[in-house]
Amino acid sequence: MEKRELICIGCPMGCPMTVTMENGEVLSVSGNTCKRGDVYARKEVTNPTRIVTSTVTVEGGADVTVSVKTASDVPKGKIFDCVKALKGVTVKAPVKIGDVIVENAAGTGVDIVATGNVRAV
Ligand code: SF4
Repeated sequence: MEKRELICIGCPMGCPMTVTMENGEVLSVSGNTCKRGDVYARKEVTNPTRIVTSTVTVEGGADVTVSVKTASDVPKGKIFDCVKALKGVTVKAPVKIGDVIVENAAGTGVDIVATGNVRAV
């Protein structure tokens, strides 16, 4: 039997949780105050994923950068590949929220999209 200690990142309470596992299967989760913690803990020990956020350079816009994020969670092991996929990326203004900045980032099947608007000048 294996025990993993985790801090839930679902909200600022940061509940300390213990996940009991055997042969890669979750047997129990304790310490969570709500269901979100249980869901997070089970996913974190079996298939950890994250949203990746960053910024890219904008040409010809009212702002010089725009914030971007992966459209959904990507596997934790692909975070740095997604960040690398953004290296040197420049977009032309105007940029609108939801515009696809990088398609299929690092082969994850997830696009990186703009999370801000930048008007052209
Ligand atoms: S278990 Fe629920 S209350 Fe605790 S940190 Fe996670 S989301 Fe917040």
